[in-house]
Amino acid sequence: MGLQKQSRRWQWFPEAMMTIAHTLGELRNSQFSEQRTLRRGVKDELRENLLARLKAGGPVFEGIVGYDDTVIPQLVNAVLSRHNFILLGLRGQAKSRILRALTTLLDEQAPYIAGCEIRDNPYAPLCRHCKDVLAREGDRTPIAWMKRNERYVEKLATPDVTIADLIGDIDPIKAARGGHELGNELVIHYGLLPRANRGIFAVNELPDLAGKIQVGLFNIMQEGDVQIKGFPVRLPLDVALVFSANPEDYTARGKIITPLKDRIGSEIRTHYPATIEEGMAITAQESWCQRGGAELMVPAYVRETAEQIAFIARADKRVDKRSGVSQRLPISVVENVISNAERRAVHEGSSLAVPRISDIYAAMPSITGKLELGYEGEIKGADAVAREIIQASVAKTFDRYFGPGDLKQVVQWFELGGQVTLTDNTTTHDGLKSMEKIQGLLEKTGKVGAGKDDAPEIIVSAAEFILEGLHAHKRIGRTEDRVFTSGDKQPHLIERDDNHAEVDAEWAQRKKNRRPFN
Ligand SMILES: [Zn+2]
Repeated sequence: MGLQKQSRRWQWFPEAMMTIAHTLGELRNSQFSEQRTLRRGVKDELRENLLARLKAGGPVFEGIVGYDDTVIPQLVNAVLSRHNFILLGLRGQAKSRILRALTTLLDEQAPYIAGCEIRDNPYAPLCRHCKDVLAREGDRTPIAWMKRNERYVEKLATPDVTIADLIGDIDPIKAARGGHELGNELVIHYGLLPRANRGIFAVNELPDLAGKIQVGLFNIMQEGDVQIKGFPVRLPLDVALVFSANPEDYTARGKIITPLKDRIGSEIRTHYPATIEEGMAITAQESWCQRGGAELMVPAYVRETAEQIAFIARADKRVDKRSGVSQRLPISVVENVISNAERRAVHEGSSLAVPRISDIYAAMPSITGKLELGYEGEIKGADAVAREIIQASVAKTFDRYFGPGDLKQVVQWFELGGQVTLTDNTTTHDGLKSMEKIQGLLEKTGKVGAGKDDAPEIIVSAAEFILEGLHAHKRIGRTEDRVFTSGDKQPHLIERDDNHAEVDAEWAQRKKNRRPFN
């Protein structure tokens, strides 16, 4: 009851009113009184500030999209329960981002004893240095302040992390300089965990930590303190421990010591965006689009296609399920696609950059490295797999705008022998001239948001999307050199390409089917 009252009163202090104490004496008479600060651990702090945020309404964490009904409620419960917790998910599911966002639940500033390596609580110091200063100086003990981001320590677990890195060791240089004996607490070199004292300690990819290091973590969770080898002291650290891991690594037998698993209060599963719209919202938020230079207009179908690539790749059998397909893939694709359009705009001296589907094919370098392929995919080759995935993405996006019976006139134009070349380097002027030749094409661009009065860059991109869509559905052909044709009539042009070999096979099949039965 008393605590509740106190925390309510706490919320009335606007940040600007906070007195910045410079000595322990001043601190005693501030909001950070002994009564309030002595036993308020970092997990209490996270909990109190979270409760305040929940009461205020609005999002728990800014900029985290698609987790409102799944991850966020579980995360809130874990923090309210004062748990150490783990986020289980594939790469690119915003795990690190969520862990970092926890810092926004810390107080704006927190006091510690000035000069302390482990940023001791002024009312209950752990280290020998601070105990000595406090005994000597009393209320004149100098106080320093740490900001939120200074209270977050992150470590990527790798098999070579040692106990010394994590917990600490003897520092022989300190010993030599100070003339102290080894074994004297003043010669401790503190590891990452003690340095995270009164803050958040995040370990990414927890299963990659060696077993004995996991034991070290287990000790701090179980006993609430750590012991540094060779020193007769125990440090009851105040740390919120948070972890992330790939779910399969985490559940694999022998990767995590059972007692450690047992001490992790909550296990929270992250996931990829559930819908294209959520994915696009994340990608739009995370990708670098406001660049200066040429004016930029990214058509919706380009954004949709870029996002579909991730969705289709995640479902593709040739892509390794264990590693997943990071959200960083569509983000990098969109960035590269914009760059290719920028490049074209500079080249032709245009003040408007409008990405095309061909810019997505040109963005291959941002795709292949992010696909972890299985055996079958490796045989086929990353480029071929990526091209097929892009093509499938174009087809799926196309279906959001057009039905299978649409655009017959355009297909007919090709069947009558028409052909046009349109590459990512084709200028807007030349592109528009080619597109105008195709009967029935430009009157359809309105359906994808490009009206007659729009800039030619926009119209060319829209027209190209329609052709790419027809090609992706194999209703027209397209060579490796980006010549759109009736695939039916010029198979010799497209024999070389793997992709098109399939198209060819299908065309051959269709022709066979059309043959009368007599
Ligand atoms: Zn200290």
